[in-house]
Amino acid sequence: MISQYEKATSKAQALIETAPDAMVVVNMSGQIVLINAQTERLFGYKKEELLGKEVELLIPDEFVKHHSEHRRKYTSMPKVRNMGKGMELYGKDKSGKNFPIEISLSPLNTGTDVFISAAIRDITDRKKAENKFKGLLESAPDAMVIVGKEGEIHLINEQTENIFGYKRKELVGKKVEVLLPQRFHKAHPGHRNSFFSQPKMRPMGAGLELLGLRKNGEEFPLEISLSPLETEEGVLVSAAIRDITARKKVERSLEIFNQQLQNKNKELEQFAYIASHDLQEPLRTVMNFTGLLERNHSQELGESGKKCMSFIMDATSRMSQLIKGLLEYSRIGANMERKTIDCNAVLDEIQRDLSSLIEETGTCIQIEPLPIIQGYAIEFRLLFQNLLSNAIKFRLPDVTPEIKVFAEEQKDYWMFCVSDNGIGISEEYQEKIFIIFQRLNPMNDYKGTGIGLAHCMKIVELHGGKIWVKSEIEKGSDFYFTIPKSTEQD
Ligand code: ADP
Repeated sequence: MISQYEKATSKAQALIETAPDAMVVVNMSGQIVLINAQTERLFGYKKEELLGKEVELLIPDEFVKHHSEHRRKYTSMPKVRNMGKGMELYGKDKSGKNFPIEISLSPLNTGTDVFISAAIRDITDRKKAENKFKGLLESAPDAMVIVGKEGEIHLINEQTENIFGYKRKELVGKKVEVLLPQRFHKAHPGHRNSFFSQPKMRPMGAGLELLGLRKNGEEFPLEISLSPLETEEGVLVSAAIRDITARKKVERSLEIFNQQLQNKNKELEQFAYIASHDLQEPLRTVMNFTGLLERNHSQELGESGKKCMSFIMDATSRMSQLIKGLLEYSRIGANMERKTIDCNAVLDEIQRDLSSLIEETGTCIQIEPLPIIQGYAIEFRLLFQNLLSNAIKFRLPDVTPEIKVFAEEQKDYWMFCVSDNGIGISEEYQEKIFIIFQRLNPMNDYKGTGIGLAHCMKIVELHGGKIWVKSEIEKGSDFYFTIPKSTEQD
């Protein structure tokens, strides 16, 4: 006859077999009274090998001593709870191999006896995934801080310790606000909530200067990128934090340097303006008097005297041109007005202005449709005029000058080109020609002051663009320049 007890046991057995976890039921003295097939599989024992044995058989040796104590404590006040909260738990299988587990305990009161049932889950795979994640976290170049909905820090990596100066255990569990200066504490939870209400990857405080607070009280600039992290504990936010102190320093010194450079440039331009302006007056006097000498006293000068006089006059007129050029150069940039410019109209005008030169030289100019841009109209015209007149001036003898003008649209700017079939420029001079007063050819062959391209460069740079040349000796030159497309300010 089957006893009441046996009936109950087989019922209990059937019940625990349905559990997805390994189930181990022990009595108050820690002996195993019931297990399911999952337990056999997980620990590698047959049922008969476990029933009646101390549950410590399933626990790695180093934990056994503590376990007996914990068990005694639990049996004195048994209730449903997870075992070893916050601790890493391990099981030991028959071969002696340890593996990570999670255990949930609950008391079973039969009226006469109290048993403890333990649901045991193998978390090897989860641990592996966790370790992989931690490995990733540690290998990140940035400080990584993983934060929960309430702003509590769940996890940090070593970079975080390095940057903020805290040890891991000083941060985990604390509010993330400890990493920010006090004055931002009030507003921060609001920002956090708004992130959690719509969690997606984004930089934090775009456009704002973000500051962090080190343990030693020092504030420092940082950059943060946030992304949501789906975990068993719900959605967390992972913050990648970069200390940008060094970059900010460089940026700051660059700013200062740029400012100084701009001031120096202004000073230089001012100087060039004043010098050229003041030089004009005495030069005019010299020119007037040489003219007077030549007209009224050429008889007395004799042949060699007249020759000297003509040298003086040539030199003074050239000096006057140079001074005028310098004066114009230093004036560019003053009182400029941004306007809509139809480049086609500009080139029509220039061709009209240069028509006699074009006819004289038989120059053939081909102009493709050009864009309408925003720019400084007077200066922009001067730019094209200089490039075109150079293209005609530096022609090869006995070759019909052919000039092409075209523009190419790029994403943020227009690229213009003035291309000729003239004398070309050897590579070593292709950058130098943009420096003021730099000329390559003897004065007798090609007249000029060496200011034109310096002008062009200054004008292009005022528009925020670049100018350069591609050229081959005796094949021709292609002058390129870019003009950024209109910005929002236009
Ligand atoms: P300038 O024309 O008054 O000499 P620029 O500043 O306009 O001064 O040009 C500087 C020098 O660059 C010129 O002297 C010339 O040697 C060279 N150069 C400019 N444009 C061309 C060109 N289209 N083909 C060949 N050389 C050129």
